[in-house]
Amino acid sequence: MTTADLDTDIATIRDALIDLYKDLHAHPELGFAEHRTSAEIARRATTLGYNVVSGVGRTGVVATLSNGPGPTVLLRADMDALPVREQTGLPYASTATDPESGSPVMHACGHDVHVTCLLGALEILARARSTWSGTLIAVFQPNEELGAGAQAMVDDNFFERFGTPDVVLGQHVMPLPVGMLAMHPGAAMASTDAWKVTLYGRGSHGSQPERAIDPVVMAAATVLRLQTVVSREIGGGDTAVVTVGSMRAGTQNNIIPDQAELQLNIRTYTPEVRERVLTAVRRIIQAEATASGAQRDPDIEVIDTFPITTNDPGAVDRTLEALGARFGAHNIIDPGPVTGSEDVGIFATASGAPLCYWFIGGTDPATFAAAQEKGTTAQDIPSNHSPHFAPVIEPTLDIGVAALITAALTWLGDPAS
Ligand SMILES: [Zn+2]
Ligand SMILES: [Zn+2]
Repeated sequence: MTTADLDTDIATIRDALIDLYKDLHAHPELGFAEHRTSAEIARRATTLGYNVVSGVGRTGVVATLSNGPGPTVLLRADMDALPVREQTGLPYASTATDPESGSPVMHACGHDVHVTCLLGALEILARARSTWSGTLIAVFQPNEELGAGAQAMVDDNFFERFGTPDVVLGQHVMPLPVGMLAMHPGAAMASTDAWKVTLYGRGSHGSQPERAIDPVVMAAATVLRLQTVVSREIGGGDTAVVTVGSMRAGTQNNIIPDQAELQLNIRTYTPEVRERVLTAVRRIIQAEATASGAQRDPDIEVIDTFPITTNDPGAVDRTLEALGARFGAHNIIDPGPVTGSEDVGIFATASGAPLCYWFIGGTDPATFAAAQEKGTTAQDIPSNHSPHFAPVIEPTLDIGVAALITAALTWLGDPAS
């Protein structure tokens, strides 16, 4: 497919995709509750001629198109939104709430962009099926935000049912200027380990500390000591993040509570550093409890886990060349390893296929340049998960659709050969 053909095709579906995007944006759903979203995807993909299976890994949708001999390409988009109250003020802003929890819900991570772009790519690839041969597997994945959706789909016999891909491709919108793409070979995104830690003390009257084992002091000491993991136990050339995002204990000033709760978020880029950090964090939690005289060991509960997202260097080279030819090599940057996490890599590790995952910019270039000029990019450009996150619709969608098609065609077969 030539660049001109692709541009013409995208122009014919642009208005419909903008409408679809606004509709998805106004109707966000939390992970594993993407019922309306998945029904809409299934309906549209069926109309486009894809073989559609819903309910894969609970709310996931898989749309396949077998188009003769050739490689199998897996294209993945995530569908879920976040418990965030939207504050963009956009006419299509979400006012939705989660039916179960009542929490406000917003597409604050841009997964509505991903779904829209993948449906657009499926439409054009189906229309242009005489130009390629092979099999397309489009994956609309639930619950990326809690790192549970990809594993749920794999556990639902994904590869037995839909085949093993030769490559796994996907993309994420981020606060870069529209028109920029970013891709990093190797460890591209961090692993996450999120833990809930319960520290057990002994409650007492606030006036009688001698009767208590104070979990507030135990928690405070633990939080401070955890700060030494990265600074004192990890090599200068390695990277890790240990964040205590939540610390809770007690109800009022004259009661020493009987327990405290910490929530930790840990990011690493290699299995070795991950093991070292997790071991150190466990050791400190246990040792501070012992130092406080706790009579019960702390409990550690895993909230969620994301693997390291590892881009295959060969797959990145091959895809980069095609994307560079399409968008201009100067518009593609290497952002280095990103501290965010993703579960797309599970489709690659579970199948043995190489992964190629990239970022597309969604910020107005003039806004971005102005913030950069002032040195306030980090404050002024809302990031993913912010209640103000608002990608500009176009040309973000155009670029997202073109990037998926360009990458897919790089891997699919040529029917002439
Ligand atoms: Zn997110
Ligand atoms: Zn996301």
